[in-house]
Amino acid sequence: MSAMSHLCPDCDTQRTFITPHIAGLCPDSEDGRCPEWCCTECGAALLTGFSLSGVQAHTVPESAQRVA
Ligand SMILES: [Zn+2]
Ligand SMILES: [Zn+2]
Repeated sequence: MSAMSHLCPDCDTQRTFITPHIAGLCPDSEDGRCPEWCCTECGAALLTGFSLSGVQAHTVPESAQRVA
């Protein structure tokens, strides 16, 4: 489970969001990274495509995955 700070559209302020699934083990995502975040205050769900840089350190840059 990961946590991050993000603007909650329901609370209209910065809140802590958590993923309901363990990073890398999400059954809803092909790469295992959970796209779903829940506000710890009101429970609002946020589906994200935004960068998690700073939250998870194992993100691999695309250039590093290039096949010659
Ligand atoms: Zn998930
Ligand atoms: Zn909220």
